[in-house]
Amino acid sequence: MFIKSKGTHISEHRGHKEMSLKNPYVEFLNPSYVYIPLVEQNTPCDVNVKVGDLVKLGQIIANKTGTFCLPIHASVSGEVISINEKMWHASGKMVATVKIKNDFTESKCEAIKPQAFQDFTQEQIVEAVFNNGVVGLGGSGFPTYFKLKVKQAMAMVIINAAECEPYITTDYALIKDHLDQLIRGMKYLMKAVSAPKGFIAIKENKKTLIQKIKLALTEEPEIAVFELKDEYPAGWEKYIVQRITGKNYHSLPSEVGVVVNNASTAVAVCQAVEENHPLIEKMVTITGEGIKEPTNVFVKIGTKVSDIIEQIGGYADNLKEVYFIAGGPMTGKSIYSDQMVVNRSLSSVVVMPKMIREDNPECMGCGKCSEVCPVWLSPIQIKQALDAKNVDSIKELKADLCMQCGLCSYICPSRIELTEAVAKAKAEVLKKR
Ligand code: SF4
Ligand code: SF4
Repeated sequence: MFIKSKGTHISEHRGHKEMSLKNPYVEFLNPSYVYIPLVEQNTPCDVNVKVGDLVKLGQIIANKTGTFCLPIHASVSGEVISINEKMWHASGKMVATVKIKNDFTESKCEAIKPQAFQDFTQEQIVEAVFNNGVVGLGGSGFPTYFKLKVKQAMAMVIINAAECEPYITTDYALIKDHLDQLIRGMKYLMKAVSAPKGFIAIKENKKTLIQKIKLALTEEPEIAVFELKDEYPAGWEKYIVQRITGKNYHSLPSEVGVVVNNASTAVAVCQAVEENHPLIEKMVTITGEGIKEPTNVFVKIGTKVSDIIEQIGGYADNLKEVYFIAGGPMTGKSIYSDQMVVNRSLSSVVVMPKMIREDNPECMGCGKCSEVCPVWLSPIQIKQALDAKNVDSIKELKADLCMQCGLCSYICPSRIELTEAVAKAKAEVLKKR
């Protein structure tokens, strides 16, 4: 049965995107130190450098092993200072890092150079994407090469440029200046999975950018723009695939002949294929009421968030305490230190004045959480079933369908932590299975 997920419009005022878009993006590519996290998608990585080694920009310094293996590269040239210094990470945990002292020479490893990409086979494209550590830059961090290893030809590639979470504007900032790379990256992705069609899915309210994209696509009849409604979670993969194909899938879009990649990922694919350039730099939105000049910043992977904040003008005046949300207010993780480092999938850091929460806020029965849930759940009922440890009821309430979009917590006037509760309930159901 086809059940269409629903979306909720978040007003511009509550979306807060204008904060980081009022200024053009800035670059901060010369930090004194970088701290490359030795963890990818919660999996620890094997290091292959030691303290005192001199590394070049783009050199492989560690590898993620296992099913989704992937190399990890140095984002600056310089000396390895330490291997196990723990830093905060977007996962909400402290992780070991490789600390490199920047020698500011930007001395590149020899492998980074223009490629004869015009003749690349599908396998060579996938190999370039793997070798250069390209991952989903919409926040998932899922290795892109893995999505491209499909058994049969795909019907289409979709570029997800919806960026529907409040505050985040990285894709918007990157697409504006790197549209040509996005389109070329998309074509390599289409070639890799033999897809004859491509769609750039973007929210209908981005009128100027849509016009610019359409103009750039005049000579590309196989690629079109698909305008999504201005609602949350328009950037959720299932939502986009439903809107464009009219089909649902169970675990992966490839079940219905689709490969979905984020807009910034397509730019990284282009650089990997054309220049053998690894993913060592990225755009991050640094924003929120706790920042003096919210903006998008193009930084090296491994840069400390405190260094970026200092670089762009510091914290807002008269703040007592702040907290940080790594990845956006809906799906991100709260972190209480600016000693956090940029990893490959970190899209934004929202800095907020610390709020006092009631200990046990009461539900006022407004029904808003059920109203907005894109997969038609009743989050408060699930939370009540979880509190009562009633696993049968949790199952009946279909907690396992939650996609952790964060909308129920965001909308709740009593500020009840519904998303966290439903996530725990979902884990209970999956454990029983
Ligand atoms: S977090 Fe889960 S329960 Fe809450 S609105 Fe999103 S899908 Fe529904
Ligand atoms: S939105 Fe909050 S207050 Fe309203 S019904 Fe849901 S839990 Fe209760």
